[in-house]
Amino acid sequence: MKTLCTSDVERAAAVLRSGALVAFPTETVYGLGADALDAAAVASIFAAKGRPADNPLITHVASVVEARLLADVLPEAAETLLHAFAPGPLTVIVPRGPRVPDAVTAGLDTVGLRIPAHPMAQHFLQACARPVAAPSANRSGRPSPTTAAAVLEDMDGRIACVLDGGPTDAGVESTVVDCTTDPPVLLRHGACTVEALRTVCPALRVSSSAEQQARSPGTRYRHYAPQARVVPVAHPGAAAPGAQHAYIGRHAPPAPEAFGLVAVCDTQAAYAHRLFDFFRQADRAGCCVIFAERAPAEGLGPTINDRVARAAAG
Ligand code: AMP
Ligand code: MG
Repeated sequence: MKTLCTSDVERAAAVLRSGALVAFPTETVYGLGADALDAAAVASIFAAKGRPADNPLITHVASVVEARLLADVLPEAAETLLHAFAPGPLTVIVPRGPRVPDAVTAGLDTVGLRIPAHPMAQHFLQACARPVAAPSANRSGRPSPTTAAAVLEDMDGRIACVLDGGPTDAGVESTVVDCTTDPPVLLRHGACTVEALRTVCPALRVSSSAEQQARSPGTRYRHYAPQARVVPVAHPGAAAPGAQHAYIGRHAPPAPEAFGLVAVCDTQAAYAHRLFDFFRQADRAGCCVIFAERAPAEGLGPTINDRVARAAAG
């Protein structure tokens, strides 16, 4: 299969409506979309990614009105969070309605719903005129793609089309909040910060990693990993220099010229935006180790630390 790369939204939507897979940009990372109401199309996402069958997919819709059509009920916490953060990089887990196929939810009685803010994603969802199930558009276990070129690196020949909307903004995935319990529980750190969520939902609880693994199947697997070994460091001085060593963080290492590749990021947002792209860049440059500076535990820090820790595991 030859993968079509296009910025023609209507054309990409027609490909999706025909039952094929289309990668598309969102404000977080590129998603790998299929018609969420077509179980065969959804099954082909798992095949293209090599994704474990027990890892449910997030369903993307253009509006809260459409989200309601997929839920059995929208719990009050979901209403509050969507009112404040939709469209945006937030996924709410809610009781599943009868229209959602088992293939999407991996058999769970809940469904993850997200309303992306990216203008091209909005246009695409409207043109598809149906809910779109979409995990990140990488091969399972690899860093999430933040450009169309990164999608093709993993998926060329495996999917029908990639809709090219340029580099994504956040660079890390959506925050996942389980709204089926009181208080609601954060299951995955993401582009929407805990501090922001707590402005409207002060009772929000952050799950332990054991609880995440029990309640959110995707968090059980190794994730986000480049070929190079990822080593988290508490401060830049702890990174060992070397021609095949890469370094990314908020602060420059003592001898940056002694590294093969260095990214110093001015802000947490810039660090998050750059992280997965840097992993892929380091692989292309033949680096064998990537040192990643630990971020402070506020704002996007926990999201960055989560991605680095999972990339380093295994
Ligand atoms: P990805 O789309 O690859 O970024 O992964 C989606 C994440 O959302 C994974 O960690 C899934 O396990 C999680 N997820 C999706 N749907 C549900 C659900 N119904 N219940 C719990 N976690 C979910
Ligand atoms: Mg993913």
